[in-house]
Amino acid sequence: MTVIDGRAISASIRNEIKAEVAKMKERGPVPGLAVIIVGDDPASKVYVRNKGRACEEAGIYSEIIELPEKTEQGELLGIIDKLNARAGINGILVQLPLPRHIDEKAVTARILPEKDVDSFCDENVGKVAVGAPRFLPCTPAGVMELLHRSGACIEGCECVVIGRSNIVGKPMAMMLLKENGTVTVCHSKTKNLIEHTRRADILVSAIGKPKFITGEMIKPGAVVIDVGINRTPDGKICGDVDFDSAAKVASMITPVPGGVGPMTITMLLKNTITAAKLQNDTNV
Ligand code: NAD
Repeated sequence: MTVIDGRAISASIRNEIKAEVAKMKERGPVPGLAVIIVGDDPASKVYVRNKGRACEEAGIYSEIIELPEKTEQGELLGIIDKLNARAGINGILVQLPLPRHIDEKAVTARILPEKDVDSFCDENVGKVAVGAPRFLPCTPAGVMELLHRSGACIEGCECVVIGRSNIVGKPMAMMLLKENGTVTVCHSKTKNLIEHTRRADILVSAIGKPKFITGEMIKPGAVVIDVGINRTPDGKICGDVDFDSAAKVASMITPVPGGVGPMTITMLLKNTITAAKLQNDTNV
């Protein structure tokens, strides 16, 4: 059984990214990312800080725009419009969740599709769905990198995704399908979940329930990818998968923390580079 080391894989991709940014710098401007955060949610602040730091380490220009909780939607839209028009900013993301008085959909839709490095807007979601992505949504893209770099077989294999959210489950299913997996999507209304999970050669769990997937639900030799990030009552982080029982059955498994988590920001950096190349009309 192999534990897929997301930290190590992420570090090697970040080295590749750093080298690519250095090459871009020789020819022209470095890629630029703007991150907007509204309010004081502590978890969001940590995520935003980590994104800024990751950009800095990769040589990517970043700008963090911190706005007070009471910011009006109109003001936020105006800020996005200005960033849309700035040549040095290739990617824009708004950290979610937003305060309740702001319409998330209206805000994410305001970002130019060419700068929507989270791949949240309808146009970019549609491009993923038809198999011609501009940007890949970061978390499922990170899962694909883990599968590729661990040598997991996707083509023709039974891939079961648990969770159907727009940011993880659905795009995950699309990406596995694009690589010729035979994909099943399970969710909270799925009957006999275990019958599906036990068929899976690749099982991706994105539910948000601690230790919900146990060893008996897993096919012997399966590759198990745990996207879940849950907090246990004693304050620790754990995944959706009961690691100890699952590790006895799986051939490869991602830990939490240290599996999918480190990949998400790495994929954001990759999308920012892609955005810069598309906007500066160089080879992608
Ligand atoms: P979500 O709440 O939007 O979706 C959860 C999904 O789980 C739903 O589609 C629901 O149908 C399904 N579900 C709930 N209960 C179920 C059950 N009993 N059986 C089968 N399916 C069930 O969550 P999300 O945004 O997709 O995130 C899922 C998990 O992944 C969360 O723990 C989140 O913190 C984590 N996450 C991690 C990263 C990362 O970078 N590693 C990124 C995004 C989300």
